[in-house]
Amino acid sequence: IKSTTVPNLDDSIDNTKEDEEDVVDLAANSLLNKLIRQSLVESSHRVEVLQKDPSSPLYSVKTFEELRLKGEFLKGIYAMGFNRPSKIQEMALPMMLAYPPQNLIAQSQSGTGKTAAFVLAMLSRVNALELFPQCLCLAPTYELALQTGRVVERMGKFCVDVQVMYAIRGNQIPRGTDITKQIIIGTPGTVLDWCFKRKLIDLTKIRVFVLDEADVMIDTQGFSDQSIRIQRALPSECQMLLFSATFEDSVWKFAERIIPDPNVIKLRKEELTLNNIRQYYVLCGNRKDKYQALCNIYGGITIGQAIIFCQVRLCRAQTSLQLETRRNAKWLTVEMMQDGHQVSLLSGELTVDQRASIIQRFRDGKEKVLITTNVCARGIDVKQVTIVVNFDLPVNQSEEPDYETYLHRIGRTGRFGKKGLAFNMIEVDKLSLLMKIQDHFNSNIKQLDPEDMDEIE
Ligand code: ADP
Repeated sequence: IKSTTVPNLDDSIDNTKEDEEDVVDLAANSLLNKLIRQSLVESSHRVEVLQKDPSSPLYSVKTFEELRLKGEFLKGIYAMGFNRPSKIQEMALPMMLAYPPQNLIAQSQSGTGKTAAFVLAMLSRVNALELFPQCLCLAPTYELALQTGRVVERMGKFCVDVQVMYAIRGNQIPRGTDITKQIIIGTPGTVLDWCFKRKLIDLTKIRVFVLDEADVMIDTQGFSDQSIRIQRALPSECQMLLFSATFEDSVWKFAERIIPDPNVIKLRKEELTLNNIRQYYVLCGNRKDKYQALCNIYGGITIGQAIIFCQVRLCRAQTSLQLETRRNAKWLTVEMMQDGHQVSLLSGELTVDQRASIIQRFRDGKEKVLITTNVCARGIDVKQVTIVVNFDLPVNQSEEPDYETYLHRIGRTGRFGKKGLAFNMIEVDKLSLLMKIQDHFNSNIKQLDPEDMDEIE
């Protein structure tokens, strides 16, 4: 499989806007997850299936061979290192590859094999001899579209006649061009433009329509409506598939509007717990005290790798506080470096690629300490880390504890997570916040005398 040249988008990507540093950027997080993901995410839950026609038999497969795929796809799958279908793929693939084609809404957290599944569905419905767009996949950003395209290219490596094209801003196609590529991946705005205004794509010939990352999609102004306009122009026999990592009501409502008569597959996310985590706090007077306490901890116990969190803010307006946070994190980074620690700083000023490479280096053990300022570390599990330090407690705009962020920083998944240690550095006047956190989670956070590490058993 080949793809057309990808336009150089560097100029149009700006991830470094100061005022947006700590805003949760769903698309950026999703991309980061993809960039750093090395293997499937496990889940101890069962896959839930809701069939459009409950009386029809429900198939699941334990091997890729059972799917009776063309040899070149099987080769592609094995070349990617896949041995057997993931949990979600066991159920989703037979539905997606069935004749007549069935529509599907699937929800499972990122890393569970959704992309690989729909890429296989698209590939297997392409007629390589027909030179026009046959599969259309909508993604929320061009970077995410490119990631999906790469999967198509890898999985379709052994079908040289199947080609991908990106309908993304910046990919200039002269009017009247005859698109001969079979798989189009793009963002809703540009796809809409290519279909209706520029008439480059004939939607009536599309056989598979995929709407990926629906939760990120509806988060972006205009994308829901644009996607629905595209969907309305598809032929009734077109297979429609929607994927989402999360499933709030809003996603569900959108999914029901855009996917007629769907089967539904859900895999619940592994919940985080604090059960396996020993939590401590140290009372400190100021920033220097906190640092001293941190040094004492380092002096007192053997630490493999640690993540240290500085204050997080989830709003746009408080730029000065963000700068303060950033300065705090930088200060801490410098202090630790001067004391001979191998430290790296992960902050929202960095591009997604830079963040991904920092996380990768940390995973590879090249740095022992990761200091991070904001939400960009959220949802990213670095499995080997046993120590988490809250140099500042997470609080929300009204200066109340941000429980969810606390759980995300420190919690582990019950079945797959390792035991861990968490240290909270608390200014005396913030002690009430810590007590609220303790009550909220109904867990014990012990006070630690930083001069006496023997308390950590
Ligand atoms: P999602 O779309 O749900 O985020 P992906 O399809 O991107 O998940 O898969 C997550 C990771 O697992 C990717 O690195 C992918 O290559 C890999 N993967 C997907 N399916 C399988 C499988 N059946 N066996 C092994 N690895 C897989």
